[in-house]
Amino acid sequence: MQVNRIPVLSDNYIFLLHDPQQNTAAVVDPALAQPVLERLAELGAQLVAIFNTHHHSDHVGGNRQLMQRFPEICVYGGAEDRGRIPGQQVFLQEGDRIKFAGRVGEVFFVPGHTSGHIAYYFPPTVEGETGELFCGDTLFAGGCGKLFEGSPAQMLDSLSKLRALPDETRIWCAHEYTLKNLQFALSVDAQNQDLQTRYNQVQAARHRGEATVPSQVGIEKLTNPFLRWEHPSLQAAVKAQEPVKTFARLRGMKDQF
Ligand code: ZN
Ligand code: FE
Repeated sequence: MQVNRIPVLSDNYIFLLHDPQQNTAAVVDPALAQPVLERLAELGAQLVAIFNTHHHSDHVGGNRQLMQRFPEICVYGGAEDRGRIPGQQVFLQEGDRIKFAGRVGEVFFVPGHTSGHIAYYFPPTVEGETGELFCGDTLFAGGCGKLFEGSPAQMLDSLSKLRALPDETRIWCAHEYTLKNLQFALSVDAQNQDLQTRYNQVQAARHRGEATVPSQVGIEKLTNPFLRWEHPSLQAAVKAQEPVKTFARLRGMKDQF
């Protein structure tokens, strides 16, 4: 399974999963249809599935047009998003499994950004393969999604599930927010050497016009403040100790940043 990253709108990424053996493809969160159709044409691949993480228009905006062009495709989304995802046919819950390109994807229910948000995780199947996580707007490189429809406790629980994945897991998040996220991270975790190093790398990459997605679970655990609620330096920065309170204050500070 090859992952193609398609930048669209101001800072969204669409991910096109390609199975070169079958010449099939599946798309994660098609904000728009046209850039997906163009990439499919380049690959000479047939679209068989849409995997949506949540109902926001910058994640489902291309669903209808892709369904018109490929009437056979299957549209997946979270069970709690029933009625909110255009064309949805499959209603997924925590622990459900999906298949693409000989890989089995596991579904995580990760509410917080929205009440029905899910993530798709494809564990490695053979030696040397990496796990692939498609987490929409739940976990970002250096940050996390805003709490539009969920509580800090819910989001903390959701992020705990993603943090528990193997360090090498690649994180395909849906927005290029990394530099801004790390600026905030430095404001609350200034002494973190790994964070300083990462900030410099990301800044250089963005100057060169490069994407910073995918990230990996290991580097997020070292540098993302929204995965580090147990860390004394962060607890001190927000003047709290209890996990939910620490997380809630961090999220509130980021909203004002
Ligand atoms: Zn969203
Ligand atoms: Fe989004």
